[in-house]
Amino acid sequence: MSRRFRDGRLVIASHNPGKVKEIAALLAPFRVAIVAAADLGLPEPEETGATFIANAELKARSAATLSGLPALADDSGLAVDALEGAPGIYSARWAGESRDFAAAMARVWDEVQKSGLAPGAKPTARFVAALALCWPDGECVSVTGTVEGGLVWPPRGGQGFGYDPMFVADGQAKTFGEMAPAEKTPLTHRAQAFAKLIEACFA
Ligand code: IMP
Repeated sequence: MSRRFRDGRLVIASHNPGKVKEIAALLAPFRVAIVAAADLGLPEPEETGATFIANAELKARSAATLSGLPALADDSGLAVDALEGAPGIYSARWAGESRDFAAAMARVWDEVQKSGLAPGAKPTARFVAALALCWPDGECVSVTGTVEGGLVWPPRGGQGFGYDPMFVADGQAKTFGEMAPAEKTPLTHRAQAFAKLIEACFA
């Protein structure tokens, strides 16, 4: 049995207001009072972990220790089999300071072509999301969610973000970039991870 959330206030250890809003909406049924890390003036720690879970825990632990409140953090990215899991935890960094995901997608495709994948073979990949809920005493409950799929080229669709236009989830015809949010969201790695965390700690 994992530790349950009974503390009232929860810090969201993200400086992305979109993410804070999305998480607040997901946790609304569980009477959790959401506090954004930025509103507490908490710093953003450097993501030095070697895995998605390590990075999520590092962010959640830092916020929990500094605030004295439980904190929730996430980390996510695209893992391509032909690239041994790259860009993985470096997914955001492959887009550079200017957040150029057209360039990041072109790099992924280029490296897949050079990887020795058989001509015509589907480059398999998955999106992975880790969530860590950590308490000020250092205990964490961490979960991951994944969505399996393949890469296509050229990218298709102007919706979503990041690597969405080059990713087709298994069983789907459209890329994530061609899907409206209501269609994409329930299929995602983040939805899977949240379902697991809610079951483990909130429901
Ligand atoms: P994070 O905010 O540090 O977790 O960065 C995750 C990075 O992974 C983002 O910048 C995107 O490049 C990529 N990523 C994560 N989830 C998705 C998704 O659902 N669609 C497209 N790209 C994603």
